[in-house]
Amino acid sequence: MPIRKITEYPEKVLAEIGKPVTVFDEELENLCADMFETMYEAEGVGLAAQQIGLPMQLFVMDCEGVKLVAANPEIIATTGEQSNSEGCLSIGKVPAIVVRAERATLRAQDAKGEWFEHTAEGYAARCFQHETDHCNGKLFIDRLPKMRRDMVVKRFRKEKNWK
Ligand SMILES: [Zn+2]
Repeated sequence: MPIRKITEYPEKVLAEIGKPVTVFDEELENLCADMFETMYEAEGVGLAAQQIGLPMQLFVMDCEGVKLVAANPEIIATTGEQSNSEGCLSIGKVPAIVVRAERATLRAQDAKGEWFEHTAEGYAARCFQHETDHCNGKLFIDRLPKMRRDMVVKRFRKEKNWK
């Protein structure tokens, strides 16, 4: 399975709302396998299709024991609040504190098209929210106040120049 190139901010595809997944076939399973492999290689805990250049309603994750494929994901319920550090493979993992719901219920389809619901808390719930945002063309920095967003982008650009 090939490792895909991870798209980086400010590539336009990251801001695109994903198209719904309608065909659940071998091609989709292969794509998900590539996404898992790409995510593990980059030492991430979640990866959305936008992050490999495909504007689709699709993400994979493996975070605190929650390993799943989510097609057409939706956060259908949230409770509580958490303020923790978050980063993104598309923005060089530069961390920033983001406020998210503490508990979140994800509704999505698996790689075979079966609908499921999964409730998680803490880091895994954060991941549900971060990846579902990606599928809707939203990055975690879009949830930051402008000054902090600018700081993350600045640090990301700087680190990119060092490489
Ligand atoms: Zn991300």
